[in-house]
Amino acid sequence: MTQFDSLTGLPNRAFFIEEAEFLANFNPTDENHFSIIFADIDRFKELNNTHGHLCGDGALKTVAKRLSSLLSSNDFLARVDGDEFVVIHRNATKTSTSLLADKLVKSFSDPIVIEGRDNYLGISIGSSTWPIDGRDLSSVLSRSDLAMHKAKVSHQSYVCYNKSLGYEYDREKTISIKLSQAIEKNQLALVYQPKIDLVSHDIVGFEALLRWTEPEMGFIGPAEFIPIAEKHGLMTEIGHWVILTTCKQINQWRTAGFDFDGRIAINISVQQIEQPYFYERTLAVLKNERISPAQIELEVTESILIKDPEKIIAVLSRLIRAGFSIAIDDFGTGYSSFSYLKKFQASVLKIDRSFVSNVTTNLLDQSIVQSINDLGHNLGLKVIAEGVETIEQSDYLTSIGCDMVQGFYYSKPLVADKVLSFITNNTDQL
Ligand SMILES: [Mg+2]
Repeated sequence: MTQFDSLTGLPNRAFFIEEAEFLANFNPTDENHFSIIFADIDRFKELNNTHGHLCGDGALKTVAKRLSSLLSSNDFLARVDGDEFVVIHRNATKTSTSLLADKLVKSFSDPIVIEGRDNYLGISIGSSTWPIDGRDLSSVLSRSDLAMHKAKVSHQSYVCYNKSLGYEYDREKTISIKLSQAIEKNQLALVYQPKIDLVSHDIVGFEALLRWTEPEMGFIGPAEFIPIAEKHGLMTEIGHWVILTTCKQINQWRTAGFDFDGRIAINISVQQIEQPYFYERTLAVLKNERISPAQIELEVTESILIKDPEKIIAVLSRLIRAGFSIAIDDFGTGYSSFSYLKKFQASVLKIDRSFVSNVTTNLLDQSIVQSINDLGHNLGLKVIAEGVETIEQSDYLTSIGCDMVQGFYYSKPLVADKVLSFITNNTDQL
């Protein structure tokens, strides 16, 4: 009784561990390799929630039977958690493992019938093989678990562990640990990229961009570390550091005699806005540095509206009332909801660089850029294109009436000291 799951009659987690430990204690030969195949059912929670636990239990029994019927007498199937099953596949090779995994996946293309109703569930499978992927059991287990999670997040049905998956995981873990100390170790820095008005050719603003150099790992790009910071809940403090540092910088520029009436743009993540005192904390920084919200533009991506749009819109509206302007970043790449666009009073729409980079060579990208530009103008917003790298791109954007641009064609992001000289040297020539 202590070794079996009462619902499905399959071995339980304790029995599975005992069996796997037994196998991992042998000296490896060509014949005794085994794979751990982790399988997690997709949409099981939804089934439970909509049709009740009895229906869920019925589905688990059917799944257990279905999986069992596909295994050979050498294989060992256990139910290790709610909707998690695991197979120990003996006399395994990587090929026999993936053939078996494919069979398990295919068995889910038929519906699971409960009380006369068809339920379509999916399955996410990850595998790793002893001793190829790890000599000790715990690393084989964690690697097949890692492969299963990769299958889940990448919407693949089956992922077989490989070294690059392990490298990716280790690197993310290292980055998240090092990043959590980056502020206190003084490793973060800001650079400022000019924004140019396409009609007057004036410098109308700068976007503050985050840079991170870690002594051992070197320069790590924001496209890599910002998603990791978001995933590991580090964006609130890093984002606050960006606001604080930008404001201190504006203060310093002012002391140095730089009287600039454009806005400095700061990127804000959803984690920051969700914090209960984001508004108060941000305004306190500005007050401390004697900066008016009218000097700041907050760049937010459309994806911030996915989770709790009403709450986020309320915070954004409060910030707008205080004098900040809001730019919608990366427009067109994610979740573009026109109804929300209408509800919050953004001032600027930013066309993502992925459309801009091919705007003179790809007609589809050209149509997208033109449509976003027209949409922005029809809604009363200013439109800026980022990632402008050639004169042809700039000319095209001018021809469709786009308001502003930023990108390497005009200037790379500049360290704070170079901002003043950039303005003095370039205003007349742009
Ligand atoms: Mg941005």
